[in-house]
Amino acid sequence: MKIILLGAPGAGKGTQAEKISEALNIPQISTGNIIREALKSGSEVGLKAKEFIESGRLVPDEVVIDIIKDRIAKDDCANGFILDGFPRTIAQAEALDSMGISIDRVLDINVADEVIASRLSGRRVCEACGSSYHIEFKKPAVDGVCDKCGGTLIQRKDDHPDTVADRLKVYHEQTEPLKEYYKNKGKLRVVEGQDSVEQTTYLTFCALED
Ligand code: AMP
Repeated sequence: MKIILLGAPGAGKGTQAEKISEALNIPQISTGNIIREALKSGSEVGLKAKEFIESGRLVPDEVVIDIIKDRIAKDDCANGFILDGFPRTIAQAEALDSMGISIDRVLDINVADEVIASRLSGRRVCEACGSSYHIEFKKPAVDGVCDKCGGTLIQRKDDHPDTVADRLKVYHEQTEPLKEYYKNKGKLRVVEGQDSVEQTTYLTFCALED
């Protein structure tokens, strides 16, 4: 199955992508994670992306499209994949179409801007494995330490309140039009994001079967 997860930053795409990936045994492809890894390693892609990611803007389409082309060509994608954070513009969606990729389902996780802002400002991520926590709603067992790998938890630069407002603006202007794009193709299902991850997951799986 080939699935796209849409939704504002902080809507819970990553968490839901992880659950689907485990249940269906298909890889989760997160462009945000791939770009952050590239930044850490100091690769060419990382250098091209740095100023964009840190200021909450979108990395240029051609850079992200190349990343996805390479990733989707790998063997583990033969039975499908979940795109988490791609496409984010109409041009990226069109690029996917022109690669001949036929998407089965597009899920939009819908969460109000005010809720997103509070989730992102309290989010902490593991600098080693990328796992996500929240200072109030999803605390690690030991403060500042990742439950999964023991790595240090940090706040992403783009989760600072000033940058969050910019990211939401970018989302509404550039990514939200994708809902209409996939609705017109009959692929879109809307999942109303809940406070509880378990409840959102339940709705996500209902939407996949629908
Ligand atoms: P995320 O972790 O999905 O919130 O992505 C973090 C940042 O990575 C975004 O704010 C963008 O700067 C960049 N990014 C991730 N995916 C894309 C994409 N599909 N198109 C452009 N930029 C992206």
